Amino acid sequence: MSKIIKQKERGSLIVMSGPSGCGKGTVIQEFLKKHKDAWLSISCTSRAPRPGDVPGETYYFITREEFEEKIENAEFLEYAEYNKNYYGTPKNYVEKLLNNGKNVFLEIEIEGARQVVEKMKDAITIYLMPPSIEELERRIRGRRSEPEEVGKERMDKAKREIKSYTEYKYVVYNDSLEKATDEI
Ligand code: 5GP
Repeated sequence: MSKIIKQKERGSLIVMSGPSGCGKGTVIQEFLKKHKDAWLSISCTSRAPRPGDVPGETYYFITREEFEEKIENAEFLEYAEYNKNYYGTPKNYVEKLLNNGKNVFLEIEIEGARQVVEKMKDAITIYLMPPSIEELERRIRGRRSEPEEVGKERMDKAKREIKSYTEYKYVVYNDSLEKATDEI
């Protein structure tokens, strides 16, 4: 008797971007708590770990040389250089999760998002907006004691980044954690 093996439906790839300070990490973690079929892809980066980073959980921390070797070996679904550091999404890992029916989140910047859309036309792209520029400024500057010009630079960068929202299929405003999570 032949066995019928039901193939799992492939999961969705969800690309999320947003300026630093818009609360991407918190929103994604809240979403993952509520949706057990969703996973967050762990990226590789050449940047140094920061306080709060957990190797293998927040990122896989590797050297620039190791990163470049992985580029050579076509191990990334996408990668980009941001603030002079490499960031990239491991291709095999994400493919495996999608083929197992998992919905996979990529929390990446615009250059990487463009590469993903180019390769996977059905990717769901979401831009997470801060509730307002004033609130973003409070979040970006408020939590740091740093010279005025450094804070201004960070804010100018965030404002430039926000302009790329038009390239995403959906825009979600993060004015309430619950509302933003539900909308996603
Ligand atoms: P951070 O150093 O603050 O953790 O991240 C800096 C930026 O890199 C953020 O905008 C984040 O979304 C982005 N990023 C993190 N991982 C990846 C990745 O794998 N690929 C790309 N293209 N960007 C990433």
